[in-house]
Amino acid sequence: MPMLTEPSAVYEIPECEAGETCILLTDIVLRSSDGVRFGAHSKNLAWYSDGFPETDSVQLTKEDVELSEDSEVVMLLLKFMHRQPQPDLSLLSSSLLMRFANAAEKYALYSATGVCKLMVELSVDIHPLEAFLYAHKHGYPSLMDKAGKLAITREPAKFFVCAHNIGDTARRDLAEMETHSLSSKKVWDAFIEFSNWPPIFGAWWRKRAACREAICKVLRSPPPVLHKGGQRHCDGWHPFYENVLINMESAIPSETAFFRVIEDATPLLEGCTHCSIVVKHMKSAILQALAHIHSTPLTSFLV
Ligand SMILES: [Zn+2]
Ligand SMILES: [Zn+2]
Repeated sequence: MPMLTEPSAVYEIPECEAGETCILLTDIVLRSSDGVRFGAHSKNLAWYSDGFPETDSVQLTKEDVELSEDSEVVMLLLKFMHRQPQPDLSLLSSSLLMRFANAAEKYALYSATGVCKLMVELSVDIHPLEAFLYAHKHGYPSLMDKAGKLAITREPAKFFVCAHNIGDTARRDLAEMETHSLSSKKVWDAFIEFSNWPPIFGAWWRKRAACREAICKVLRSPPPVLHKGGQRHCDGWHPFYENVLINMESAIPSETAFFRVIEDATPLLEGCTHCSIVVKHMKSAILQALAHIHSTPLTSFLV
C-alpha cells in the first residue's frame, strides 16, 4: 500500500497586477511594509531599477523580499517597471507623491524620478518641508532653496529642527529668527517630533531666556520723565505699568508681543504726552537689546 506523504509546502507567487495587459510570468515576491504580497518579474526589477536585493539569491531561497515601502508605493514602483502608459502622478495625494518620489530615488527608478521631481516642484506649496528634505536627500539644490524659503515662513519650528538635523546651520539660523514669536512648547514639540535628543534646544531656550531678561531689565526701570509740577508720574501711569508687567510675564519675550501689550495698555495713559515719551524710550531700549541677542549665533548659547 503506497504511503501517503505530506504535500511539500508550495511557495506561492501571486500574478502580476501592475501591468495592465502583462503576460510575463512572475518569479519573485515583494512584500510591502503593510504586509501585501506582490508578484513581480526579476528581469523588470533589474532592468528598470537598482537597489533591490539580489534577485537570484532570493529566488533560490524562495523568500519574499521585504520592503520598507507601503503597498500603495510598491504598486506604483511596479507600474513604472512595465512598458505601458504611466500613472498620472497629479492624481496622487501629496503624502503618497512624497512617499513615492522618495522610493523612486531610493531604487533609482529612472522612469519615475524625473516626473516625480517635477511633480514635487509643482506642488511645493502644499508640502514645503517634505519637499525640502526630499530635495536635500536626493541632491536638487534649486528645489531645496525654493522649498526651504517656503518652509521657513510656513513651519518655522519644524524647519528649524530639520535644518539642524541635516547640519544646514545657515538655514537653521534663519529659521531660528522666525521662532522668536513662537511659544517654547511649540518649538519643543518640533524637537520631539524630529529629533532624538536635542542639545540645541537648550541653546534655543537660553537665547529665549536672554530675551526675557533683556525685556525685564527695561521693564524694571522705566526712564523717569518729569510731568508738570515736577511729578514723576501721572494717575494713568500705574494702571498702565502694572498692566504691562502682568501681561509681559506670560507673553512670549519678543518685540511683537511687547509692542502688542503696550498698545493694548496705552488707553490707560489717557493721552499723557510725558508717559508716551517713557514708552517710546522703553520700546527703543527693548528693540536694541533684542536685536543684539538675535544677532548672536545660536551656538554661543550652547553649554
Ligand atoms: Zn507584469
Ligand atoms: Zn503721564
